[in-house]
Amino acid sequence: MHLSLGVSVKEKYNNSKIYRIKKHEKNTKITINQVLCVLICIESLICGFFIYKLATRKQRHIETLENIEMSLDMSTNYVRELLTTAVNNNKNLNSDEKLFIVNNIPVFVEYKDYIDVNYLKDKLSTLKIVYKKKGNGSNGNIRTKGEYNHFTNIITFYNAKSIEKVEPATFTHELFHVMQKTHYRDRNEYLIETVNTIFNENNTERQEKTLYSNYFIFTKMLIEVIGNEPFNKFQGYTTHEPIVDALVEICGTKKDACELLDNLNEYKRLYDKMSNDFVHSKRYIDKLGRLKKDIIKRISIYYEKKYGFSMENDLIMLYYYDYNRFIEKISERYFIESDDIVIREADELNYFNRFKDSKLIVYARGPIKQIQINIYPNGTSSKKDNIIEDYNIIVEINNENRYLNNVKKLVLDK
Ligand SMILES: [Zn+2]
Repeated sequence: MHLSLGVSVKEKYNNSKIYRIKKHEKNTKITINQVLCVLICIESLICGFFIYKLATRKQRHIETLENIEMSLDMSTNYVRELLTTAVNNNKNLNSDEKLFIVNNIPVFVEYKDYIDVNYLKDKLSTLKIVYKKKGNGSNGNIRTKGEYNHFTNIITFYNAKSIEKVEPATFTHELFHVMQKTHYRDRNEYLIETVNTIFNENNTERQEKTLYSNYFIFTKMLIEVIGNEPFNKFQGYTTHEPIVDALVEICGTKKDACELLDNLNEYKRLYDKMSNDFVHSKRYIDKLGRLKKDIIKRISIYYEKKYGFSMENDLIMLYYYDYNRFIEKISERYFIESDDIVIREADELNYFNRFKDSKLIVYARGPIKQIQINIYPNGTSSKKDNIIEDYNIIVEINNENRYLNNVKKLVLDK
């Protein structure tokens, strides 16, 4: 979603960064189609293959790490040249597809230290793109817009007959799956999709609205706890070990960390199923509610152990897991009636792009009401509330002002 902002500062409260602004929006209307258009990527999985994969996982993991270490010695120019040549020499792609991919090579170059460059080069030199005017994803999901199959190295786009009909955000999402050297999917399914979605959002101008955006908050919360380094590694070779290790370093056992990942997978599985089948039974909703509670509880234990205070004191964490409490706290801090705050959209923190700012900017909306009394020639009158000005509020939460009750200060003073 692209916004052009015409900012006129009208009021400033207590030196806080909150302004009333006039915002001219462009293209912010979300159509039902866009809402329904969710993107699913699945790799076809064969049961027997799992057994093979489990047996060879350890060996592949070591091999992958070695390959990534080898990539560290490559210069950025060399990587750019290598990948560009691979795409341009690919006989399966047409010139428009090549151009789109080449335009995104800077992202791969920027991430070269986390990916197996030679593996990516091989994939890009033989990648195929297939367009299907009709049809569901390989898991039968009616909402699938695109998917990438690591084994066949084919990206399939649905409801599109050529690249012009594919949303750029869908294309980059699939393209960034190509860089993920995926070997082990059953425990990592949730992470593969949500890390890739956040990565896509942070590295492109386009906001990707997918089914995954509905539950990627848990990944963002985990990044807040263990930092983005384990997730940088994950985007390159999708093994959960660096994430598990970072969690175990804070507290608990490997088993505890793996249980958290399993619960995230289960959450994804249920959520996707519910949205695909349009099943909104109480049983599903209750189960998702219980899982969410459990996941947040587990993350909060890590958070508290790491920082020495509860994550209830952190506005950014509250924004992720408790919307109502977040609004309540914003309302208290900036003296705005909480009923007046309606979050229209937000620029969220950036975790995968060192050139972009990382802070939470919330665009909220509050109407100013005016009572309008009409008196008609026949002597009757009517009264109604008119919204005379529709103003926007921008609240910026950054690392300096995110903590409530001075918790950070207390800890620093220790
Ligand atoms: Zn995907």
